[in-house]
Amino acid sequence: MTATETPAPGVSGTSATFESLDPRTGDVVGTHPVHDAAAVEAAVARAAGAAQWWAGLGFAERRRRLGEWRKALVRRIDDLAQVVSDETGKPLDDARLELVLAIDHLDWAAKHAEKVLRRRMVSAGLLMSNQAASITYVPIGVVGVIGPWNYPVFTPMGSIAYALAAGNAVVFKPSELTPGVGVALADTLAEIVDGQPLLQVVTGFGETGAALCRAPGVGKIAFTGSTATGKRVMATCAETLTPVVIECGGKDALIVDADADLGAAADAAVWGAMSNAGQTCVGVERVYVLDVVADAFTEKVVAGARGLRSGSTGDFGPMTMPSQVDVVRRHVEDALARGGRAVVGGAESVQRPFVEPVVIVDVPEDSTAVTEETFGPLLVVNRVPDVDEAVRRANATGYGLGATVFSKSRGEEIAARLRCGMVSINGVISFAGIPSLPFGGVGDSGFGRIHGADGLREFTRTQAVARQRFALPIPVTSFRRTSRGMKALLGIVRLRHGR
Ligand code: NDP
Repeated sequence: MTATETPAPGVSGTSATFESLDPRTGDVVGTHPVHDAAAVEAAVARAAGAAQWWAGLGFAERRRRLGEWRKALVRRIDDLAQVVSDETGKPLDDARLELVLAIDHLDWAAKHAEKVLRRRMVSAGLLMSNQAASITYVPIGVVGVIGPWNYPVFTPMGSIAYALAAGNAVVFKPSELTPGVGVALADTLAEIVDGQPLLQVVTGFGETGAALCRAPGVGKIAFTGSTATGKRVMATCAETLTPVVIECGGKDALIVDADADLGAAADAAVWGAMSNAGQTCVGVERVYVLDVVADAFTEKVVAGARGLRSGSTGDFGPMTMPSQVDVVRRHVEDALARGGRAVVGGAESVQRPFVEPVVIVDVPEDSTAVTEETFGPLLVVNRVPDVDEAVRRANATGYGLGATVFSKSRGEEIAARLRCGMVSINGVISFAGIPSLPFGGVGDSGFGRIHGADGLREFTRTQAVARQRFALPIPVTSFRRTSRGMKALLGIVRLRHGR
């Protein structure tokens, strides 16, 4: 482990610093500047120039350069994974997996930007048939990206890659827990864009993020983090009417139908709940299993979770954010105090910084373990009489990010009834790895979409153009309009729309 002094590319003008730590050991991983409002504004001003240069390159050249970036990321995958692992504590292979997914998304965004965003003609309709109508998706200019620490590459890249592919420059504020990851990411791009400040990183705490929201010249903020901070970001952006994409937390449910493959469902529940120590926005936090298969399913979950260990060389790492341990403890204690039964682990499993797997069954639905995002390796398994009740309970939360359904015969039917942005059927978190699928939630989980065609359009402004091809024989939008002309128009409308 090396302690490094890493100024963010292209950003200077501040003297205070802070350290990022390895959550497993408390060792210092790196020292970074606390960028103040002036430094953030300077970064945004520089980005505006880079945005113009980048937009001017056009789709084909941007695609070529993003392809070079993709290759650079692949070449440096082990170095980057090491930084991710050092700052989050997650196992190296988990860090590599995160990078693999981010690289695949970058590839998709670069290759599809032209097809999705190029000018397209649309029908002008009968009444306006003298017009040629077209839609273009114009880059916004400078996009501010504010990211969390749990997937410090994959999550922000869902905004960064798509914003760049759409022709924008990006100023990125990583979490204070993972600033080194942000700097390392930006370094890999710098060499491919002729030193242009196309992707700059500003580091610091919440104030640095707030300064990015306020900075003149930021055309949009893409925020990923907690719902509480998302509301603060929206409030700050409201001051300047800066549009936002808000990707927040979740309380995702997994439904197990009577005909489900129980082995696969249990495996998915355990991975969805425990991988990354449960610190996954679309992680599985609740299971609703039909009564008839509940015992058999729970047995398999217990067998799968009991063998797992957290630790420096374990199946998953520590709680990256120290204060999260208290949230997990509170939820476990509340579930047990209200009559839930621990079938794997228990209150004693919640230690600092490593929390061992906990599975609790029959937890009352008003327990905080069911109502609030836990963000730790705790899985609640509740039995339900039928699918209607499973759907009702799954939807009984303010969140609405993702969900999972295990059913052989009616997966799609159940998915359609769930109030959330994404559903995996007979798999878990699969939607996040498919670049063509939009990613985002509803309700307290936020709004707007990253990934896919929607994710590309999210980082553009839509421009509608109507070009007159010839003058209409009956002018109606002119003071030369005659009552005869209007009569003729009404006649056409009656024929076309009145019958
Ligand atoms: P936070 O909300 O604490 O922080 C997110 C980012 O916002 C950080 O970079 C943070 O900086 C910054 N920030 C804090 N205060 C402000 C402010 N006033 N103005 C602007 N920016 C600010 O979230 P976490 O980092 O703890 O991430 C965990 C949360 O993220 C969980 O709820 C999880 O579910 C959610 N998440 C959602 C995902 C999704 O796609 N829907 C994906 C991944 C995570 P600093 O760290 O310096 O305080």
